[in-house]
Order: sequence, then structure tokens, then C-alpha cells
Amino acid sequence: MIKYKLICKYCTNTFDSWFSSSREYEKLKKQGYINCHICNSLSVEKTLMSPSILKSQKNHMLEVKKDKYKKIKKTIDEYQKFIKKNFEYVGENFAYEARSIHYKNTKKVKGIYGSASKEEIKELSEEGIEAEVIPWLEDKSN
Ligand SMILES: [Zn+2]
Repeated sequence: MIKYKLICKYCTNTFDSWFSSSREYEKLKKQGYINCHICNSLSVEKTLMSPSILKSQKNHMLEVKKDKYKKIKKTIDEYQKFIKKNFEYVGENFAYEARSIHYKNTKKVKGIYGSASKEEIKELSEEGIEAEVIPWLEDKSN
């Protein structure tokens, strides 16, 4: 996006207008789509180009997103630490272990965590075993 400050040569009114590119401006001007907001004159010229605000806004959005991601990652990290400390890792055997706890009434001091496919989670839930799906970030150093 590009912002042009336009001036009407007829009534000297100036106004800002956004265009997707300078080419679009030229095209619209040729087709007579750019007219003065006050007197409707087509004698409109661009004056000095205003700095593009949109770009800096976009950059700002990226910063905010990065910040949010950091915060979310930190929350997940803490959550993972908590789970690793309080739950027993069963890896791929999650569905099996969950069933064995549910059906055989296996007493485990700790809860379990591990990986399960969406299908397995669905099956477990149909059997009345509630498993919670949580976001998990792979710890590369692990
Ligand atoms: Zn005008």
C-alpha cells in the first residue's frame, strides 16, 4: 500500500489517498477515478509522498505476535515442566496405559502422559476415558 497526498489544482484542497501501487494511481488517474473530494475536479495531482504508515503497523503486528508467541511458549514450557514432574511418561503407549488404568483399576501414584493419535483420543473418550490434549513443544535437548 502506498499513500499519496493529493492536491486539487482547482480549489487547492489537499487530501490523502491510499493506492495499492503507484501504477494503480496512474491507472485510476487516467480513467478519471481520482477527483477532488470538495469540488469534484479531476485536476488532481500528487504532492509529496507521505511515509507509509501501513508498513510500520505491519511491523508492529509482527512484534506483537512474536511477543505473544514468547509468552505462550513460556506458559507451555511451565506446563510441560509441571507435567514431567507430576506425570509418568508412557510415550506411544498412552492409549494402552490409559485403558489399563481405567479397566484394571491399576493404581498409579502419578498420572500418565504420552502421545496418542486423534483417533485414539476419540476412542478413549467413547470408552469414558477422558484424556486431555495439550499443546506440546518438543524439547530438542531432551
Ligand atoms: Zn477541488
